[in-house]
Amino acid sequence: MSLYDLIIKGVLIAQGNRIADIAISDGVIKKIEPDIKEEAKEKISGKGKLVIPAFANMHTHVPMTLFRGLGADLPLMDWLQKIIWPLEKEFVSPDFVKIGTELGVLEMIKSGTTLFIDMYFFEEMVGEVVESAGIRAGLGFGILDFPTKVAKTPDEYIKKAKKFAENIKDHKNVFPVICPHAPYTCSKNTLLKAKELAQELNLLIHIHVAETQTEVERIREEFGKTPVRYLNDIGFLGENVLCAHMVWLDAEEIDIVKETNTAVVHCPESNLKLASGIAPVPAYLGKNLRITLGTDGSASNDNLDMMEEMATMAKLHKGTSMNTSAIDATTALKIATENGFSCAGIKAGRIEEGYEADLILIDTDCPHLTPLYDPVAQVVYSARSSDIDTVICKGKVIMENKEVKTLDEERILREAQTWGDKIKNFITKHFTRD
Ligand SMILES: [Zn+2]
Repeated sequence: MSLYDLIIKGVLIAQGNRIADIAISDGVIKKIEPDIKEEAKEKISGKGKLVIPAFANMHTHVPMTLFRGLGADLPLMDWLQKIIWPLEKEFVSPDFVKIGTELGVLEMIKSGTTLFIDMYFFEEMVGEVVESAGIRAGLGFGILDFPTKVAKTPDEYIKKAKKFAENIKDHKNVFPVICPHAPYTCSKNTLLKAKELAQELNLLIHIHVAETQTEVERIREEFGKTPVRYLNDIGFLGENVLCAHMVWLDAEEIDIVKETNTAVVHCPESNLKLASGIAPVPAYLGKNLRITLGTDGSASNDNLDMMEEMATMAKLHKGTSMNTSAIDATTALKIATENGFSCAGIKAGRIEEGYEADLILIDTDCPHLTPLYDPVAQVVYSARSSDIDTVICKGKVIMENKEVKTLDEERILREAQTWGDKIKNFITKHFTRD
């Protein structure tokens, strides 16, 4: 008789709408059957719960949780120049990043995310928090043409990116990603050096592309073409490139994305809140592009809740296309889960034997999930992240009965509030109202 690490007993598997036991060992789903007789070191009851794969949040700036709620209702450039950049200049430090990440990771675990792809400063600190919290992340600091606390020149950024990648490549749960910030903040030379480094080390690239019309105009003025054409012409695009936003693409650019097999991270709530526009995702699906989902930083969203993001995505595109099946519930759930893991090269995001066990259990014993007819549709359209009861990453239970086991929630909230008070004082003293 084999001994499993963990068995989830009698749980409703949303995709397929059937009740079964799920046996897990070494972080991998080993068996899915109605009544598994073998023993396990740990057993969880799935009664009154349904299981889906955990979420993969493919575009974040996690430490920005400490700026959540600031500069509400400003357009992107004003929000960056008047609020975010001055605050980052004053406050961003390894300590800030540590607490901001703890707060963000806590929020992500509680809302069912076990993988995120992040771009910010002091990412080695983000890595430490992720490792101790027991989830996964692809990390890189933003590479820019102008000086920040990370580096002074593009060459220095690239050198540091290489060093960072070498330092964290042996970590268990985090992996390095190369993050040139955007085509309007990196020169052609910087973009190509970042690309070259990613090729050399066989890493993903994470970049913002075609987020606003202003960006498109800027690139068109400078290079005589739109961002996606420009990136394609310099040889930057490809299957290891993860482009966040991709709001303003025309039909020919969609074909370029398809031909180069470049991946897209759709960030509907951030694009809505900053009034950047709505990415033509139904057209992307029509061309079979690789589409994933992300929240963006929680200063522009204003949370890291992938369940909410998924529901927004599914409803938004029905409304704009006047087509109820523009993104159906099954597709929405797949974009928010499996597609992200797959882009990161991780075999998770499906509840199948042989897949890594990144799973979440949702408590269905509540008014808004009763009666339960169609679990996938009801997860997308009725469930809330506060219904998530259990979170499993690589076969380890990191949240149970809504309690995160790997982080001290009380301390994190207290310390985040102390940072919030400091930031508030600074704003009162230095920012003028206009
Ligand atoms: Zn972003």
